[in-house]
Amino acid sequence: MDVITKDLHALSTIPNWVDYEGERERFNWTAVRAELGVTDDRCNIASVVEHRARGREAVALRFVGRPDDDGNFPAQDMTYADLIRQSSRFTNVLRSLGAGREDRMFVLMARQPELYVGILGALRNGTVVCPMFSSFGPEPIATRMQLGGATILLTTERFYRQKILPIRDRIPTLRHVLIVSDGAAAPVDTIDLHARMAEASDVAEPAVTTAEDPALLHFTSGTTGTPKGALHVHGAVITHFATGRYGLDLHPGDTFWCTADPGWVTGMSYGVITPLLHGVTSIIDSGEFDPELWYQILQQMSVSVWYTSPTAIRMLMKAGPELAQRYRYENLRFIASVGEPLNPEAVIWSRDVLGLPVHDNWWQTETGGIMIANTPAFRIKPGSMGRPLPGIDAFIVRRTGDQVSVLGPDTTGELALRAGWPGMFRGYLNNPERYAKCFVDGYYLTGDLARRDSDGYFWFVGRADDVIKSAGHLIGPFEIESAIMEHPAVAEAAVIGIPDPVSGQRVKAFVTLKAGQEPTDSLRRELFALTRRRLGSSLAPKEIEFASQLPHTRSGKVMRRVLKARELGLPTGDLSTLEAPL
Ligand code: AMP
Repeated sequence: MDVITKDLHALSTIPNWVDYEGERERFNWTAVRAELGVTDDRCNIASVVEHRARGREAVALRFVGRPDDDGNFPAQDMTYADLIRQSSRFTNVLRSLGAGREDRMFVLMARQPELYVGILGALRNGTVVCPMFSSFGPEPIATRMQLGGATILLTTERFYRQKILPIRDRIPTLRHVLIVSDGAAAPVDTIDLHARMAEASDVAEPAVTTAEDPALLHFTSGTTGTPKGALHVHGAVITHFATGRYGLDLHPGDTFWCTADPGWVTGMSYGVITPLLHGVTSIIDSGEFDPELWYQILQQMSVSVWYTSPTAIRMLMKAGPELAQRYRYENLRFIASVGEPLNPEAVIWSRDVLGLPVHDNWWQTETGGIMIANTPAFRIKPGSMGRPLPGIDAFIVRRTGDQVSVLGPDTTGELALRAGWPGMFRGYLNNPERYAKCFVDGYYLTGDLARRDSDGYFWFVGRADDVIKSAGHLIGPFEIESAIMEHPAVAEAAVIGIPDPVSGQRVKAFVTLKAGQEPTDSLRRELFALTRRRLGSSLAPKEIEFASQLPHTRSGKVMRRVLKARELGLPTGDLSTLEAPL
């Protein structure tokens, strides 16, 4: 496989690092703590943001609306100083309600200023924050608020009436509902946030929290089962900062666009906290995905660092290169993606069409931040997730009981990390046994299968639960999906194993096509031939079904378990994170 050399654009801004081994050797978390002015006994995410932003008059958040006929975007700016003042008012509102560190504030809101103000304000107060996707309906909201013991809710009047009123009496722990009203009087039993904030002081001392005090609660996106609540601590800010530097190459003055919603861990770690630590201006777009609009935002907002998902890249590919080439991305310096395997074609397409390759990186809700990444410090091997960041040690292991053996290069096994980086989750809500099971022998076991090559690059094989066992082979869906996607007619592919009396499981692929392509038998034959040629007959799919769309989570992951359950006529399980009913 080709190795893509570093892009030349990067030369206009010197990357944060260029010497992979050297930087890893020099790195230590203690120095990062000192740089941020935190200790184990005193660490609060909001005060670190404040400390870093002191004296900075730059715009922290730029909320973009819909463009006018000339393609100009209306934008509402909030400077660092405004954000700190507003969020301090919010802290004081919480204090006036007697809310403190025992409280858990759930947030249900589109990406609007109050969301960011509320998150920072609550963190400053030591109150745990749990964001929810604003597109959730009442049921997933009720489940999460019950599981999480929500005591405060921050939402809008519209969401309150539509989604909370029908379930409010099912959440007995809920004491206060803060409402961003649309002009009318706040509903009964709620508090008008703006009215309260207007009376509050804009100065608030941060609560004295330690690095181990809980800060954030994130429910995982649930591609393989019921969502779990992962608890993160204030010390995670140390990982946020370091990974923003090494994984996203953020520089002060960058214009950064993270397309993830804060309802998902990426949108919180890299859509809210990390950019504020690096003095960048974040572009915030609340709308749904739309290829043309996204290209317009990249151009008009002069985005320099862009963090998105493989699904979004594949959808842009589906829309065709002509659309991309109508716009110019002169400031764009670094593109990264996360959440799913990034097919090699997507990396090459991006280099050819956008002028820069996408840098895939890997992490999960539990890790709290980027762990393995393609970075400016080394060349990309398309299809690989990259190499561990400084401070992170990753291994491929086999676990047997309470022992772990580390496997050598080019062997598939479970991806494991040496436990103990500052952003690691500290528990699954109400489930200490499940948490304990993730740790064996000082390793955190991720539940993902991967392999490491002899250059130290990691290659994703699949979620352990998605892996297919066929005729004695262990098959990762990603490899097969990537081969199918090499066909120019294919937009997206998802592969599952279905029971087979002879081989144990046989491989079935679901395929969506690019605009203008027809799902014909001859195309199906071409795909069979291509996959047999690329993978050999034992790995190639035995069945290919054309679909108009694939089930995705709201964070953009293909839900293979849903395809499988449907195929086998089994219950589909928790669907609350499904993007849209099919
Ligand atoms: P979540 O905790 O919901 O964000 O999901 C984390 C899971 O997404 C990981 O355990 C992987 O299975 C998958 N994932 C995240 N990033 C990547 C990547 N770059 N390549 C492949 N899979 C990924």
